[in-house]
Amino acid sequence: MTRLALHGGQPTRLKPFPQWPVFDTDEETEILKVLRSGRWTIGSEKIAEFENAFAAFQQARYGVACSSGSSALLISLKALNVGPGDEVIVPSYTFLATATSVIDSGAKPVFADIDPDTYTVDVRRLEGLITDRTKCVIPVHLGGCPADMDALNNLARRNGLSVLEDAAQAHGAEWRGRRVGAIGDIGAFSFYASKNMTAGEGGFITTNDAELADVARSISNVGRDLKAGWYEHVRYGWNFRMTAFQAAILLSQLRRLPQHMKRREDSARYLDSQLSKIDGVKPLRRPEEVTRHAYHLYIFRINPESFGLDNKEEFVKALKAEGIPCSSGYRPVYSYPFISSRAAGEPVHNINTERAAYHEAVWLPQYVLLAGKEDLDDVVAAIEKIREGG
Ligand SMILES: *Cc1c(COP(=O)(O)O)cnc(C)c1O
Repeated sequence: MTRLALHGGQPTRLKPFPQWPVFDTDEETEILKVLRSGRWTIGSEKIAEFENAFAAFQQARYGVACSSGSSALLISLKALNVGPGDEVIVPSYTFLATATSVIDSGAKPVFADIDPDTYTVDVRRLEGLITDRTKCVIPVHLGGCPADMDALNNLARRNGLSVLEDAAQAHGAEWRGRRVGAIGDIGAFSFYASKNMTAGEGGFITTNDAELADVARSISNVGRDLKAGWYEHVRYGWNFRMTAFQAAILLSQLRRLPQHMKRREDSARYLDSQLSKIDGVKPLRRPEEVTRHAYHLYIFRINPESFGLDNKEEFVKALKAEGIPCSSGYRPVYSYPFISSRAAGEPVHNINTERAAYHEAVWLPQYVLLAGKEDLDDVVAAIEKIREGG
């Protein structure tokens, strides 16, 4: 079989990158234990064990497992009492669920722009978006890079807002030595198939606030109070529970995470140094306060013109044809009409978000960073080849 690169000739790379998800006999053993126990959902000690282990890993006092990152966001908003009449500030460069969770809580999203060098929310511009309806802000630790949590907590304190961390891409990430998820009031994680640890699906809520944790647990379990009877529902809730099979897989995924994190950080530093040498390529800035970066994505910025290309889609197409898994990433969340029609205020155009989405951002998925140095050299060589016109 021959495959041609876009500019002709052999692609730089024909070998596949490491496959994701990674698993071994540890997952097999854990999942069989659950199967044979006959306790497959709530009440299984596996779920409690995983809740304790993951909350401790994120340095949070409390943890509640749930069905997805999207439901973790929605449960968190409801636990924070966000609802109709409220506004919630979210970055416009994020996954759709950051905004849909706000809409489904009954509140309205307000779209903040990102910092052009880190792609996390630009806290300096948040003050101007706060109204007397603003109840909460959702920083997204995009690609595994924590947002400026000092500035966010400060702003929230001064304006009486709550902070919900969207940590769906940031397992194990740290801001000045503190793990994300409970630096703000509450945090939401995802264990979807693409995420840095996964059970196919799954989510998690972290907090240091005992009452928020209790309410979140209750909302995720059809509004029950576990101290009362099974049919003693005490509030409005839904079934957002995680199964014991997911908890079992996640326990072994968590054991493997630290070694994966180290590998990704080493790879990212290597790519940073190599890609900065190429004209027209600029890796994102990693703030000093980020003592651990989860690198769910490795994001770099390109100037298509300096590659002799009309736009970044051509670059992404060419890089894929060279055998490098990559994507062009998000569109601005407000570019979807069914989102913008449900947002607060006038339509917005956030310039840094639009530049990232339409002109400069290129994403490599996290599993590329699990590869070896020679494999990363293929990434660099492919980009250099596109630069030279194939
Ligand atoms: C994946 C993701 C979510 C949603 O998680 P699901 O488990 O897919 O529902 C939310 N926010 C961000 C930033 C994500 O990357």
